[in-house]
Amino acid sequence: MRSLTKSNAQFKKALKKLPLGVASNFRYWGDDKTIYVKQGKGARFSDLDDNQYIDYRMGYGPGILGYADDRVDAAAIEGMKVGGVFALATELEYTVANRISQMVPAAELVRFSNSGTEAVMAALRIARGYTGKDSYIIIEGGYHGLFDAALWYTPMEDWVEGQGDPELVPYSDGVPQMLKKLIHTVPLNDANKLEDVLKKHGSDIGALLIEPIMGNCCSIAANAEYIHQVRELCDHYGVVMIIDEVKTGFRVAKGGVQELYGVKADLCTFAKAVANGYPISIVAGREEIMRKVGNGIAHGGTYTAHSVSLAAANKTLEILDETSALEDIANFGLDMQKGISEILDSRNIAHSFSGHPSMGGLFFNEHPPVNYRSWKKSDYSFYDTMAQHLHELGILCEPDSREPWFISAAHDKSCLVETLNKFEKAVDQTC
Ligand code: PLP
Repeated sequence: MRSLTKSNAQFKKALKKLPLGVASNFRYWGDDKTIYVKQGKGARFSDLDDNQYIDYRMGYGPGILGYADDRVDAAAIEGMKVGGVFALATELEYTVANRISQMVPAAELVRFSNSGTEAVMAALRIARGYTGKDSYIIIEGGYHGLFDAALWYTPMEDWVEGQGDPELVPYSDGVPQMLKKLIHTVPLNDANKLEDVLKKHGSDIGALLIEPIMGNCCSIAANAEYIHQVRELCDHYGVVMIIDEVKTGFRVAKGGVQELYGVKADLCTFAKAVANGYPISIVAGREEIMRKVGNGIAHGGTYTAHSVSLAAANKTLEILDETSALEDIANFGLDMQKGISEILDSRNIAHSFSGHPSMGGLFFNEHPPVNYRSWKKSDYSFYDTMAQHLHELGILCEPDSREPWFISAAHDKSCLVETLNKFEKAVDQTC
């Protein structure tokens, strides 16, 4: 049985100075379950009690090469010597922007921010500034950051099929209710619903915000036909198509989800994998739209394009572009899914995988979900219990089945063997 004695003591101490004892609400797992990390390296980390874990959360995606990657950290140290932030530009901004443009054709022009939230917030503002239209469309189940305009969701737990659309509610107290008037929601993979909304409200809608592989929603994936229909509808109704690649970017392919689907966004956002965990994000897109930045549209920030983050981004992107890291990650994901299927099939446990193998969702139903409404068909209570057993055994997947399993280039054969052995035990403990 894993002991969390030191983590629990740290929790009690931290609670005196930090709400929930942590720096981000999502890191609180319960008064006696909250884990405090001692150190991470590669795909593994240890907690204060020296419990060892193989990590499939990887910071919710940033650790694409693994924790404390020597090559990226060496580059970051060089970046540190540049001096940080100057309220002036540095050379590396162009170098990284150019690299991104070469990897992602839609990224004709690039601007930097610090977090995914900031990048998506900028994209939404740019889209509205460009179109002059304030309303926007989001997809049910999507998560696009902590700013008020994005912090809305459609709770599914109590929703009943056939009884209308799920209600849109703020995800937090303090989000102004009046924002709701600007938001339209549609389920993924339903072009007819989207067209209905655009027919009725298209003249007020400036942006559509979509994450084609929903990294906060069991990696539910759009089908290719749908994404191309979305592209056409956005063109037809003069809506800026924002593809949020904060999780998928530089992970599911060198050119992100846009490469996988063969689609080009008007604007796209990147963050997590860009710098292997160093804080940086990107809003990029079509030149005609992006030229409005600085020409009527505000963008900037004190910490934007910090020399450490830029240097880390330059090295991480170089590695992702010039090595087989992303292929290796996808292959690991496929091997893991094959192994998991063998274990579950031998016990007649219906299941399926959604999304991309580098950030796959595990779904306890034989059919993968097509949108957030069908996530309800998964036996998520089985997942929740199994996840707790996995944690006890040192396999750290997300406790909530709506978060995919993130794989890094540091997940190697030994991780695979150990994970599958422990997965088998956890399943048997759950059954
Ligand atoms: N967009 C997507 C698709 C995300 O998954 C996230 C975070 O998980 C964000 C935006 C917000 O990013 P951040 O947490 O860096 O602000």
